[in-house]
Amino acid sequence: MPIDLHTHSTASDGTEASEVVVAQAARAGLDVVALTDHDTYAGWPAAVAAAGELGVDLVRGVEVSCSQRGISVHLLAYLVDPEASGLLHELDRARDSRVTRIDRMVELMAADGIPVTIDEVRAQAGVGTTMGRPHIADALVASGFVRSRDEAFADVLRNGSRYYVSHYAPDPVRAVELVRAAGGVPVMAHPFANGRGWTVDDSVIERMADAGLAGLEAHHRDHTPAERTHAVELAARLGLFVTGSSDYHGAGKENRLGENTTTPEVLAQIEEQATSGIDVVRVARA
Ligand code: AMP
Ligand code: FE
Ligand code: FE
Ligand code: ZN
Repeated sequence: MPIDLHTHSTASDGTEASEVVVAQAARAGLDVVALTDHDTYAGWPAAVAAAGELGVDLVRGVEVSCSQRGISVHLLAYLVDPEASGLLHELDRARDSRVTRIDRMVELMAADGIPVTIDEVRAQAGVGTTMGRPHIADALVASGFVRSRDEAFADVLRNGSRYYVSHYAPDPVRAVELVRAAGGVPVMAHPFANGRGWTVDDSVIERMADAGLAGLEAHHRDHTPAERTHAVELAARLGLFVTGSSDYHGAGKENRLGENTTTPEVLAQIEEQATSGIDVVRVARA
């Protein structure tokens, strides 16, 4: 019963529409998939419709961008009430700030002679899409400056790049509180993925746990075996469950659906803890 609780669609920086992500999940033989776009619920309706047709159970979620003293933290939030205003306000604010920040990065790059314009980057994203560096990468691929998102992230788009600009994001402890207030279940995404940039100390995760964090995404391709072990041990010490997920982005990343999975027991805990009235979409199987 493969369960994959972390995927992205064109509502954020995935390359496939949310109904296509669900179709790919069916093809990959998953029984349960969660859609967790960055800072938006926009992909939910089409995913719900597709899940019913294709016979894959769907967990509605979101990956909340957070920032702890300048260190990026990603918080997965499952089964949240999309109308809960506290969380919604923070997502709106982060999405708005992402637009300004992408414009600023593109200005800096263009001023240095890199072939990219704001219009070209916008053209890579749909209406209402959460903008991110991957959309700049796609424009750079289109202009022939790089061959892939990966190549762009290895160079001009990396965290330490001279073109890097940060964006507004809530503190992770506050975000945990807001997810719980929205009736959802907060799980910290790839907590020790040091290859992506700085990660927070265990003390921050302890404070998130005190605020209501439910789990750690221990099994993720951006973790080394030692980082997975550390996540599993820290989760046990703090009374958190662990998940495993692909962080699928369609053609935008090598991550394959189902490459890491979560146990049915942990999914049952997520369902038990949710108080939003947003249920797992369960479908009859052929
Ligand atoms: P941003 O949220 O705009 O700061 O951009 C970070 C996003 O870029 C993450 O959510 C990743 O999905 C994506 N990303 C990071 N590194 C890479 C990479 N090497 N190739 C493709 N996508 C990446
Ligand atoms: Fe992403
Ligand atoms: Fe993430
Ligand atoms: Zn993600």
